Amino acid sequence: MNDFKPKDQKNPSGPVKVQNYKVWVDRNLCIGAATCIAVAPKTFQLDKEGKAVILETADKEMIETIIEAAKACPVAAIFIEDEKGNRIFPK
Ligand code: SF4
Repeated sequence: MNDFKPKDQKNPSGPVKVQNYKVWVDRNLCIGAATCIAVAPKTFQLDKEGKAVILETADKEMIETIIEAAKACPVAAIFIEDEKGNRIFPK
């Protein structure tokens, strides 16, 4: 469970570039519900503090799946913007 690599070691919860999108988790909001991990297991994992981090394999996940994960988060802690800085989720 703890054998995972964040995309950015210094900012494990982002913001990081995933494909042409910017994705991050607000660690203050995240309650470790792990719904995002169930929906998008290549993108999210929980760290030792029970907060979601963004994995280096995130680029292998379809962006639609990552958006689904963001929508599924009970506290809307996952943020996604496109390359122009337009907010994809939450709106
Ligand atoms: S679904 Fe939301 S609250 Fe749960 S681990 Fe993911 S980001 Fe955190």
